[in-house]
Amino acid sequence: MRLEDPKLLAALAELGVEHRPDTALAGETSLGIGGTTDLLLIRRHDAIPDLLKLLDSQHLPHKFLGGGSNLLVQDGELPWLVLQLARSEPEVTLEGHIAHVDAAADLGRTVTFCAKNDLGGMEGLIGVPGTVGGALRMNAGAYGMQIGTYVREVKLYRAAERRLEILSGDRISFEYRHTSFAPDDMMLAVKLELPSKPFKEILQGIRICNEKRRASQPLGQKSAGCIFKNPSGASAGRMIDELGLKGLSVGDARVSNRHANFFVNAGRASAADMLSLIAHVRERVAKAFGITLEHEVVLWLV
Ligand SMILES: Cc1cc2nc3c(=O)[nH]c(=O)nc-3n(C[C@H](O)[C@H](O)[C@H](O)COP(=O)(O)OP(=O)(O)OC[C@H]3O[C@@H](n4cnc5c(N)ncnc54)[C@H](O)[C@@H]3O)c2cc1C
Repeated sequence: MRLEDPKLLAALAELGVEHRPDTALAGETSLGIGGTTDLLLIRRHDAIPDLLKLLDSQHLPHKFLGGGSNLLVQDGELPWLVLQLARSEPEVTLEGHIAHVDAAADLGRTVTFCAKNDLGGMEGLIGVPGTVGGALRMNAGAYGMQIGTYVREVKLYRAAERRLEILSGDRISFEYRHTSFAPDDMMLAVKLELPSKPFKEILQGIRICNEKRRASQPLGQKSAGCIFKNPSGASAGRMIDELGLKGLSVGDARVSNRHANFFVNAGRASAADMLSLIAHVRERVAKAFGITLEHEVVLWLV
């Protein structure tokens, strides 16, 4: 989608929004797949209600991009704009046990910053790429922990009410890779309440998680993490592995040889290649185990 109306572009500039025309989402996603559209970089939270009203009034559809590490995006020209929060400085500030974190903050840096200040709990998230906003939306988790456990309060743009709101953690349901936020709510900031732990102890936990990741995941290859959620009481990766599907390819889209639930872009995979591989694996698992796997990766399809 290309914005060309000079009046609209001037209104965006007035709201402090940076217009980045023809942005290739292949360059913004960890899978390295995705077509082009205009990206709007938001620099001020207080401008968001007016920005979204403006886009709605012009019937301009949009999607929110965090770090792009859990997305499979369609190729070609995309029929929606992409909104992204600009990084702010400082990304994290501390008040006792509470970390105030901007949604655009890098998740790994946030975990490290808190660790250096003797605040732990999030060791398992150290290797999860992306932003804190994306982690909140997905309720990112690993090695027995999830970010939702520590959420005291979220500042967000509530699409239904068309305004900024502060939501206390006990009013949000955080489940396995699922949250009760509405699909078009936009996370802006979060207060995390973290347990005190000596830095050395946190570091030890981080090292253990890093080692587990290095031993089991195709780090350094283009992926979006796990493609499927684990069904209750089962492992999607184990089922795919048992079917001998590691290494299976459609074009350059490939089931990782290292972790059967990671599908990698081994070169110039298209969205169609990846989708076809996902559909094939899903069908094989359904036939063999009678289980229909649910996507963990978020699909942005036309
Ligand atoms: C190598 C690798 C390992 C991974 N390991 C794990 C793991 O162990 N555990 C795990 O849970 N995940 C894992 N992931 C997946 C991914 O990193 C997480 O889901 C991450 O939290 C997504 O954050 P993001 O900022 O990149 O979100 P994006 O991919 O940009 O977006 C994901 C979803 O969140 C929405 N979103 C993003 N930001 C906002 C916002 N501010 N407001 C509203 N909605 C927003 C998007 O619209 C989209 O629906 C892994 C991915 C990779 C590549």
